[in-house]
Amino acid sequence: MVKRYRIEYDRSACIGATICVQTDPKNWIMSDDVKADLLNGQKQASDGLYVKEMEDEDMEDLLNAARSCPVRIIRVKDLETGDYLV
Ligand code: SF4
Repeated sequence: MVKRYRIEYDRSACIGATICVQTDPKNWIMSDDVKADLLNGQKQASDGLYVKEMEDEDMEDLLNAARSCPVRIIRVKDLETGDYLV
């Protein structure tokens, strides 16, 4: 069975280090305000986080980006177990 993950991104805390964009350009792009945007991320009204769901075959670069972010604002939740991988 394909595993699914939820990406949670706190854009307000981004310092524009660009590591995510360099590591995983399929999912991240730099914006004019020098913060990264999570492509196809949906902003949550409740907490302001940008969120999207992905399947495990797409996850390797995104996990590397999340682990490389210097301010640790990219989190990855396993939707099966509820555990955070990053
Ligand atoms: S690596 Fe982190 S701080 Fe750097 S641009 Fe990406 S989200 Fe922002």
